[in-house]
Amino acid sequence: MFPIRRFVSESAAANLLQQVRWRDGVECPRCRSDLTVRNGSYREYQRYLCKNCGRTFNDKTGTIFAHSKLSLKEWYFTIYVFLRFNTSIRQIEAELDLSYRTVRRRVERFARSLDAPSMTLSGPVEIDEVYVSAGLKGRERDQESRSRGLSTRGRGSYDGDKPPVFTLVDRGSDERYVVPAKSAEESTVRLLLGNRTQESLTVYTDGFRAYDPLEDDDAFTREYVVHGDGEYADGDVHVNGCESHASLTRRWLSPHRGVSKDKLTPYLRAFQLRCELYRKPGDEALKHALDAAL
Ligand SMILES: [Zn+2]
Repeated sequence: MFPIRRFVSESAAANLLQQVRWRDGVECPRCRSDLTVRNGSYREYQRYLCKNCGRTFNDKTGTIFAHSKLSLKEWYFTIYVFLRFNTSIRQIEAELDLSYRTVRRRVERFARSLDAPSMTLSGPVEIDEVYVSAGLKGRERDQESRSRGLSTRGRGSYDGDKPPVFTLVDRGSDERYVVPAKSAEESTVRLLLGNRTQESLTVYTDGFRAYDPLEDDDAFTREYVVHGDGEYADGDVHVNGCESHASLTRRWLSPHRGVSKDKLTPYLRAFQLRCELYRKPGDEALKHALDAAL
């Protein structure tokens, strides 16, 4: 259900922010004190006075929505259609009659405010890596790095504009994750698999060598399929869940084609958020998205 009320009324939008932000009570963004009282309003937004430090603040102070030329309802609409419908920035620009630059900056500001997914793995876990074309478009247009990146053969690299992106499927919790990395090395793999609930985590991989050291480690039980040999599954041992998540990831990035590699992390965190709120009703989804950005 499209939460349309939040996109047409600024006070309904402000009300939602209040609900999410002050869920555990109003707290001064400056000194963290909860000794606050209501103190009139600033436009549609409730204002407060902190009795500890004497400062006033309102619902938007200290959030990504403060000092913005977009109203909250425009912010919400942008965030909602971006996450929910995989809408391109060009299309949002057309719907809101704002400049492309304004919309892109807001979307990216939102995406940068998102935290890395916290992964607690119970296993068995599928892990796989893909390489996404992400050059320096927009920053260094027409420079040779991009064309060089696209012609790279085989495994990609961050420097070659094809950064590795890991997908993980935890069959125990049924959670899926997508995490970009600077390199597809053993240390990266260990970091990704570091937080686990089992003493020995069962890990399914392909035959890529970065996973080999897991076999000599008691913390892991590694099993793998070798795709080069035409082998895609051996009973439970496969990374098909990763592959389908990787294809959803590619579809997510496709309207934003040319996302540069330094922006890949925020765009992939937004994708992670999109997956989290996938089945939630409109208002709940919007609340969840706001909460993630606060
Ligand atoms: Zn204060």
